[in-house]
Amino acid sequence: QAKQQGRGLLRFFSPEMTQRAKTRLRLEADLRRAIERDELLLYYQPQVDLPHRKLVGLEALVRWRHPQRGLVPPGDFIPLAEESGLIVSMGEWVLRTACRQIKHWLETGIAPQQTAVNVSAVQLSHGSLVERVQKILDETGIPPQRLELEITESFIMADSEQSFTSLTELRALGVRLSIDDFGTGYASFGYLQRIAAQKLKIDLSFVRDMTTNSSNASIVRAIIALGHSLGLNVLAEGVESSEQADYLLALGCDAIQGYLISRPLPVDEITAFLVQARGDFSGHDA
Ligand code: C2E
Ligand code: MG
Ligand code: MG
Ligand code: MG
Repeated sequence: QAKQQGRGLLRFFSPEMTQRAKTRLRLEADLRRAIERDELLLYYQPQVDLPHRKLVGLEALVRWRHPQRGLVPPGDFIPLAEESGLIVSMGEWVLRTACRQIKHWLETGIAPQQTAVNVSAVQLSHGSLVERVQKILDETGIPPQRLELEITESFIMADSEQSFTSLTELRALGVRLSIDDFGTGYASFGYLQRIAAQKLKIDLSFVRDMTTNSSNASIVRAIIALGHSLGLNVLAEGVESSEQADYLLALGCDAIQGYLISRPLPVDEITAFLVQARGDFSGHDA
């Protein structure tokens, strides 16, 4: 019966759609093997405070070094990983790799205050996230507050109690929470309060033309005010020019992240950046 229905449905697929479906299946199979074949890697992007531009944290961003396709950006495979459920094991790999790296930086005395890892709404609603994070913290022995989890505002639309429970338990573990891509979803004040995050990240789409588009400037101003009224640290994503940085400083934004400071860097390059940042810091301290 189901087979017959399936065969009937095939008639509605154009050759182009069939090709796309094939490419997708292929990519999904490749992705399934990517972890065991060691094809995933993390890049790290610095976050700095305003006005001093002193390093305050890093964000880990996953990359996939595909044997044929080269370096694949997350936008091309995260959605697939989410739909197929692969995001759960992939997310665990990302968390473990980031925490091991934090441990290494702690041992060499160059660890930033915190390193953020992106967590998908699918991971959050899965329920096993808290246990996985706990296990990885135990394994690596890093202080929980060195780890920050970035949750996109849009997860809130799913309105899943499981997700809220997980967030509360994660906070209880001592890890930090950050609300990513803020301004693109529909979070209410009530939700924002319930999440008990420490940081709000203004989506880069508002930052991009903030200095030329007055309505975007108003949005950025409002988000900063909202964040501060809730006691959150406000960071602007996607800052590319010093004009934007100056503008954000004038609006009272706490921190920035973007190409102006640095692109996301592979681990050896970000380690060099950390050594340099520590040098600057001790220089100011002395
Ligand atoms: P996101 O978490 O909002 O990350 C910020 C994105 O903006 C990154 O893209 C970063 O490379 C890019 N970016 C940083 N500075 C600038 C700038 O000045 N200008 C512009 N135009 N872009 C900038 P990326 O690395 O391609 O990641 C895209 C998205 O993929 C991330 O958005 C995040 O939602 C997702 N992602 C990345 N890594 C992971 C991961 O390990 N797990 C999960 N679940 N999602 C991830
Ligand atoms: Mg993020
Ligand atoms: Mg973001
Ligand atoms: Mg984003």
